[in-house]
Amino acid sequence: MLYSVRMRAAQGAAHEAGGRHISGAERLVPKELVAETTQAMLDRAFEHSRGQADFINITVESVAAESVRLLQLLPITTIDTDDVPSGRAEAKLVLANSGVSEKAIEAGFEKLLALEDSMRGAMLICAETGIRLDLRENRGVRVSRMDIGDDAAFSKWLASQGFGNLHIREAIVLATKVANAPGMVAEICWSDDPEYTAGYAASLGGYMRFPKLKAYGSPLGGRVFFIKPGTNIEALIEYLENQPVLVINGEEAG
Ligand code: AMP
Repeated sequence: MLYSVRMRAAQGAAHEAGGRHISGAERLVPKELVAETTQAMLDRAFEHSRGQADFINITVESVAAESVRLLQLLPITTIDTDDVPSGRAEAKLVLANSGVSEKAIEAGFEKLLALEDSMRGAMLICAETGIRLDLRENRGVRVSRMDIGDDAAFSKWLASQGFGNLHIREAIVLATKVANAPGMVAEICWSDDPEYTAGYAASLGGYMRFPKLKAYGSPLGGRVFFIKPGTNIEALIEYLENQPVLVINGEEAG
């Protein structure tokens, strides 16, 4: 048995009562790690650089081991650029090479840049027309019930690759689940953490990391998932929210 442990924190009021999203986290852990995982999430909610959390919701839910899908970690490539505009230009090229139309790329960036505050989840956008496909407005679709298979080995491997922070650990797990979703073409993300300027474009082809995708100090981040026309959106959201996934990294052993 595994446990899905999820946290969401907001300022002013609960999210559903109009509170401002501060932070969230998603883990899938064995029972003996539930207590330390919830404690770490509480600490994180209280200390987030986006501000003081007034509302924190932590959910612990059992997940049957047989329902867990194992997915291979996406290969990671870093593309360093001189500044944010060239980072974004390169990220757009990666999206285009993954099969997202120019129109949809521009619509996706426009929607991300128009956000007045960060969403809790991601926008689903048609990879051809650029039209928003989910009806979740400012909430978006939150990907959940995923984790790395072997946490200690993964942390060691990430550090050996020069990736020491929690952001990339979580992002690469999320991106691996997302890239394997039915109808997924590609994803673009940059963080809402004011101190974190990196972002990525990902697809089944790989996770392309851009150290400069957002200006330092900006609390505005977001995620856009580009979807193949004709995809069953209900089934896609069901996979993103509910399908338990553990990510396996074949390179850890080496
Ligand atoms: P982060 O990378 O955690 O700084 O998050 C950046 C943005 O991505 C957030 O503002 C949300 O819009 C979105 N996001 C974060 N976590 C998730 C998730 N689990 N599922 C979908 N979107 C997310």
